[in-house]
Amino acid sequence: MIHYLPLGKYSFGMGDRFARQARAQLQACVRAAAQGVEVVPVWNKSNREHVTIGSDPAQSRQAADAAVKALHWNKPYFLDADHIRLDSVDRFLPYSNFFTIDVADWIGQPASADAVKHFLDRHIELCRGVGAAPKSEVEKIAGKYLAAVARAGEIYRHIANNKGPGNFVTEVSMDETDAPQTPAELRVILAALSDQNIPVQTIAPKFSGRFNKGVDYVGDVAQFEKELNEDLAVLAFAISEYGFPPTLKLSIHSGSDKFSIYGAIRRALLHHNAGLHLKTAGTTWLEEITGLAAANGEGLALAKEIYSQALEHIDDLCAPYAAVLDIDRSRLPAVKTVQKWDSGHFVSVLRHDRKNPAYNPSFRQLLHVGYKIAAHMGDRYLNALTQYESSVSANVTENLYERHIKPLFLAGD
Ligand SMILES: [Zn+2]
Repeated sequence: MIHYLPLGKYSFGMGDRFARQARAQLQACVRAAAQGVEVVPVWNKSNREHVTIGSDPAQSRQAADAAVKALHWNKPYFLDADHIRLDSVDRFLPYSNFFTIDVADWIGQPASADAVKHFLDRHIELCRGVGAAPKSEVEKIAGKYLAAVARAGEIYRHIANNKGPGNFVTEVSMDETDAPQTPAELRVILAALSDQNIPVQTIAPKFSGRFNKGVDYVGDVAQFEKELNEDLAVLAFAISEYGFPPTLKLSIHSGSDKFSIYGAIRRALLHHNAGLHLKTAGTTWLEEITGLAAANGEGLALAKEIYSQALEHIDDLCAPYAAVLDIDRSRLPAVKTVQKWDSGHFVSVLRHDRKNPAYNPSFRQLLHVGYKIAAHMGDRYLNALTQYESSVSANVTENLYERHIKPLFLAGD
């Protein structure tokens, strides 16, 4: 297969909305390295986040480069243009070396009968092996996905023409859709991606269960584990069958903090000796708020103000994220109640500690979508991050390392 820039076995996606935490985030990877495990840092940001904040991919690049320099990180690192399409990719081209091609919207768009027939003739192997399906089923699946994969090919070639094919990592994402993909669907998708000569290294299917923003997984953990193991078997099979990069692995778009499936993920990785890319994003922004609140004084006052404005604008803030939020409005405390909280109580309510009875997932989800409020505060917010930098960065590092990287990549070795 054609050229690609290799991504390591374990990689971890981090979002840094205000481009201030790259160093604290990288510190979590430094701590993993000190334990002998290479976790490749990938800073991801979608165009939607850039638009909401009014930021630019150049800032993410600058922040990442500065962090890498400051911490003497001499291993690979990446900047992920997350969920891009043909109409949003161009602004990322000079700064990103990882592109998540999102073709979920093209799933189910009709493929021509000719294209489907051609595909079936070329891929009789899909009726046997791991994730095999009868020919009639393969035909149905091909009809559902060929147009989306063709679109992925178009976007991939656009990026490759601009950056040179060996200079970036390619991910294909299909997670932002209604129904989870079956192993048979994943196998057909991979066969179609190989026809497009896309050196895909990470693929993001949709799994069953709810992946709400900033809070834990909601669903059947045993079912998730079964799906994950089946998908890993399909991937291993497809690597040898279609000559994909040996680094091809799953990408889990976690929406952050899916702690109750991390044990299942770890078991599956060890069982299959598989790699993984796991994306988080908003968890770091929530640690900024936690760090501000923990610092007390004006930091706590600002955290309270963000909550009170978020509550006031709840409908606007939640609308773009409606599919990935489950906020119980009856559990959202009134502004005047929150005003009376001390630093310790605010942190207990916000921090994702399932053992703490004060922890409130509705409060946390509302603040998750409240980053737009902080963006509107502009320098006031950014200056607070500078003023309370030690409290904020300690929370950012601790969260990524202890609650995410350790259980996913270091446990039980
Ligand atoms: Zn996603």
